Amino acid sequence: MKKYVIALDQGTTSSRAIIFDKDRNIVEMKQREFPQIFPKPGWVEHDPMDIYSTQMAVLHEAVAAAGIPAEEIAAIGITNQRETTIVWDRKTGEPVYNAIVWQCSRTSAECEKYIRQGHGKMVREKTGLLIDSYFSATKIRWILENVEGARQRAEAGELLFGTVDTWLVWKMTGGKIHVTDMTNASRTMLYNIRERCWDKELLELFGIPKSMLPRVCSSSEIYGMYDLPGEGPEIPIAGIAGDQQAALFGQACFEAGQAKNTYGTGCFMLMNIGEECRISDGKLVTTIGIGLKDRVQYAVEGSVFVGGAVIQWLRDGLQILAKSSDSEAAAESVPDNGGVYFVPAFTGLGAPYWDMYARGAVLGITRGTTREHIIRAAVESMAFQSMELLESLQKESGIPIERLRVDGGACSNDFLMQFQSDICGVTIERPVIRETTALGAAYLAGLAAGFWESLEDVSRGREVERIFEPSMEGSERERLSEEWRKAVGRTLDWAK
Ligand code: ADP
Repeated sequence: MKKYVIALDQGTTSSRAIIFDKDRNIVEMKQREFPQIFPKPGWVEHDPMDIYSTQMAVLHEAVAAAGIPAEEIAAIGITNQRETTIVWDRKTGEPVYNAIVWQCSRTSAECEKYIRQGHGKMVREKTGLLIDSYFSATKIRWILENVEGARQRAEAGELLFGTVDTWLVWKMTGGKIHVTDMTNASRTMLYNIRERCWDKELLELFGIPKSMLPRVCSSSEIYGMYDLPGEGPEIPIAGIAGDQQAALFGQACFEAGQAKNTYGTGCFMLMNIGEECRISDGKLVTTIGIGLKDRVQYAVEGSVFVGGAVIQWLRDGLQILAKSSDSEAAAESVPDNGGVYFVPAFTGLGAPYWDMYARGAVLGITRGTTREHIIRAAVESMAFQSMELLESLQKESGIPIERLRVDGGACSNDFLMQFQSDICGVTIERPVIRETTALGAAYLAGLAAGFWESLEDVSRGREVERIFEPSMEGSERERLSEEWRKAVGRTLDWAK
């Protein structure tokens, strides 16, 4: 009798394992952080063995703590930090270099070169992405160019590439299975999201041998089996999705126009745009949002670099908050922002500005400004930035968003959620289960294993904890948005 599904949530700073029962209750959760490696300014790496060992450790710990036998586990699903690149030896399983993490900007200059050469349009048309060091292609190329002998070994078919999902499945199956799913593939800058295959022209452009690449599967199928230590049957590994797409799935955004926003360190907004691949010439990326065998849907995605991190900065940098959650009461203790706007462009601005020279600023300070106004302005900045994402998403897709599903650490801030609803004029739905990324991976695996029946079954299980309805006057909304945009205007181009 199958009673549980396990989600492996392999994130940028930690690996987690979460055990769900059929009613989506979290039965057990274990988490382990692992070292971040910063060899040079702007470079970020992980040891692939740390990724694997922490992920297996939390899996085994969670199963042991819950005290459940392997017989009762229906499936394992994987969700992962996207774009992070690992290259290893097909025979020995030895990585030839550390994992190059999505945040790592070592290939920025190379990306600029590709843009100068005029490849941007072709790459965008095929992959839905902007040429950027975030995505895997130039990271793989960097390894082939900079690790001694790597290029020759790759050409000879001796090396394999994988994003973190691929690496985990390969290790968990004892080097038998080399696969990825469509959502992860769509972040490599090598995958043609229209034709849904590795693209020959892109492989040539970035100089990557096809033999290195994993087979691309759907996000919900049995890829291979994992043998838990001890007695019991092998468990199917049956779901894979990149973290943001897993959250989209966990939020049951199965129809065009449905969108979710995650309020974590940064904010990530994705909207399902349906079965037709529409690539705009704007500043958002198009990606595979849902990659089931009989249902492939695209999504537009925008992100805010500094979301909840602005609150972290008030706590750890400025030290005017003891805990992140204290920001709610502080923001509510003043009747309005007192004319103060906080633009947290600490690392430049993403969509829709794309200004890497913008820098943070607090504007509108007067003698009457208090600590509470600054905190309120910081909380409001998450909502203003998300508002601009929402506007871009609607503009680029031509689909209006009426409801926004939310998750991530900072979505527990009621003031923020109400302000978000007010400033966008949309209804906000906050789910009971905030672990939507892990839940998405669990759903994908559970569907393939027959643990859950259908998408309808999944949608039905979605429970909304609280709804926030817009209550602000239209004129007030306009005034605030206009002042926000004016504030952003003052921060642009600052560090040039
Ligand atoms: P991540 O997964 O990106 O590490 P989380 O989803 O755990 O992030 O969210 C943590 C972020 O949210 C932190 O930056 C923190 O400052 C912020 N945060 C957490 N709780 C609150 C709150 N109640 N109000 C405002 N910000 C919060």
